[in-house]
Amino acid sequence: MTYVIKARSSATELSILRSLHSRVALVENEFKRFVNLSKGLEGEDQFIHLIESLQSDTYLLHDICFEHNHSVFQIDTMLISEKEILLFEVKNYEGEFVYDAGTFRLVSNNQEIINPLHQLNRSIALLRSMLKSSNLSIKGYLAFINPEFTLLQAPVDTPIILPTQLKRFMKRLEQVPSSLSAKHLQLAEGLLKLHLPKSPYVRVPHYAYEELKKGILCSSCFTFMEQKDSRFMSCKNCGLSEVVDDSIMRSIEELRLLFPDRMITTRQVWDWCGSDVSIKTIRRVLGQNYTPKGLRRHRYFVDKILIDSTTN
Ligand SMILES: [Zn+2]
Repeated sequence: MTYVIKARSSATELSILRSLHSRVALVENEFKRFVNLSKGLEGEDQFIHLIESLQSDTYLLHDICFEHNHSVFQIDTMLISEKEILLFEVKNYEGEFVYDAGTFRLVSNNQEIINPLHQLNRSIALLRSMLKSSNLSIKGYLAFINPEFTLLQAPVDTPIILPTQLKRFMKRLEQVPSSLSAKHLQLAEGLLKLHLPKSPYVRVPHYAYEELKKGILCSSCFTFMEQKDSRFMSCKNCGLSEVVDDSIMRSIEELRLLFPDRMITTRQVWDWCGSDVSIKTIRRVLGQNYTPKGLRRHRYFVDKILIDSTTN
């Protein structure tokens, strides 16, 4: 099966924009970005779904960004199998294109577009140089995922996967036997360490804690929920009902996503949840699901798993 070592950062950006959209007014270009990202992700969903459902043993890293020899390069999806590393440049282009003497042109107006194969080849070359000592071979593919995309005169010897070939490509990939060892995991984790976390490709607008509307957002329609009784939250907009513990946990994760530097204290979570859930309930949920650190008045909470792994 596939093991996802790093998820998509566009998914993170979308989550942030989705929260902001509910809690503060986005300016026009930010809202546009939000809508485009939602649409773009829908387009990429099929590819991600296909590659993450591969039955053969592989490690996957999505949206990773490296710097090597003063050059920054980004890879949409990297697949590590027993014998090779595959890079995928994923494009959601729509319309009719023609491939002619190494250039991509729009059929409608004969306009040349930036050749995505150049970017892919650059990434392959940089990664090869970065992983000089590895004996895995490195190959790259340009995957067009939009079913409304056509490429005329696509030569068979270019590493292009057309929307109609995606499923077959994945099937072939699955038939290559692959078994992963500690060496592969070391490689995947080493690459994750080299990843530039503040990738210049993730752009979100600036926001401050104080300017965001507080409260618990519905997980389905992202409007604010209300407390039904001591155990349940409900959404007036879509009718969703949820155990209050789950609503609080979700809100804590959202808070950590938006403000990774803030300490998770009882009062902080209470304020973030719009102060309508009782302090007592917040304290109980934090106590049951996180590990307390620090003394009484300065108590804050961290992940249970993180503590467990350091004591092992
Ligand atoms: Zn709702």
